[in-house]
Amino acid sequence: MVGRLAPSPTGAQHVGNARTYLIAWLSARSRGGRVVLRLEDIDSPRVKPGAADQALDDLRWLGLDWDGEIAVQSQRLPLYHDALQRLQAAERVYPCTCTRSDVERAASAPHAEHEGPVYPGTCAGRRVADADRLSTPFAWRFRVGAASPAFLDGFRGFSHVDLTQVGGDFVVWKSAGTPAYQLAVVVDDAAQGITEVVRGDDLVPSTPRQLLLYEALGLTPPAFVHVPLVVGPDGRRLAKRHGDTRLASLRQAGVPANALIGLLAWSCGWLDRIEPIGALDLLPLFRLDSVPSRPFVLTAELLRRIGYDPAG
Ligand code: GLU
Ligand code: ZN
Repeated sequence: MVGRLAPSPTGAQHVGNARTYLIAWLSARSRGGRVVLRLEDIDSPRVKPGAADQALDDLRWLGLDWDGEIAVQSQRLPLYHDALQRLQAAERVYPCTCTRSDVERAASAPHAEHEGPVYPGTCAGRRVADADRLSTPFAWRFRVGAASPAFLDGFRGFSHVDLTQVGGDFVVWKSAGTPAYQLAVVVDDAAQGITEVVRGDDLVPSTPRQLLLYEALGLTPPAFVHVPLVVGPDGRRLAKRHGDTRLASLRQAGVPANALIGLLAWSCGWLDRIEPIGALDLLPLFRLDSVPSRPFVLTAELLRRIGYDPAG
């Protein structure tokens, strides 16, 4: 059993990230599993200087440890490139010259905000060899085909997202010349021998894409567990408008990590009241089936109960 923590250093880690990391870590450790740490830092325009070190400090503060070397995606580019070449050799990808606004304009149906519109297939008639003749920058898109793989989620149960309705053919290699998240995460999870991926349920639509990549690359997928996110009182995912919920801010304000862990443990149904507890002490209490299937609504009042005022 091998689990993983995979922070993106695109900004500060907040209380929502902490809850997912805690569940992922406990799920592996409570069964004697290993935990690996991977920095997902290839989303280069969004990567913030110092955010990676801060994410490591946040995890250490929370008492969540990991085994072995830290994998850093920006240092693993040749691995992703090999995978791209295998997809090209099998004609599973094609070069796409569409810009983001081309895709937006061609979109016929309304779409979920962060999933983007369904790719209209403008470039799907191309073959891999056509890339040689292109004079404008291009991305590589994966051909989704008609059937999106369903999967048995360890938390949600049977899960199915129809990719022909959500996103369509997806980018595996960006026109900037760097791998997209979907490809890098599959290559890494496979190379690191990850057997269980625990992550936020905003990534449910990524899982069928990743399953298609596992299949196309001849790799064995891990088990997937998607847990509900932390939201603000307005039901929207935790963001600045809900006050400062960055872990670094709680830390600087002198909130003991055990106080936050206690709040999160209560939110997951492992404690019946909010009281300080360490991550290690949760090992015998951990269970996935007590985690509510609704998002956890984090209020200023709950944060004040652990001695923190999100309004500063
Ligand atoms: N790095 C991603 C994030 O922090 C997680 C990706 C994953 O778990 O597959 O949102
Ligand atoms: Zn295109």
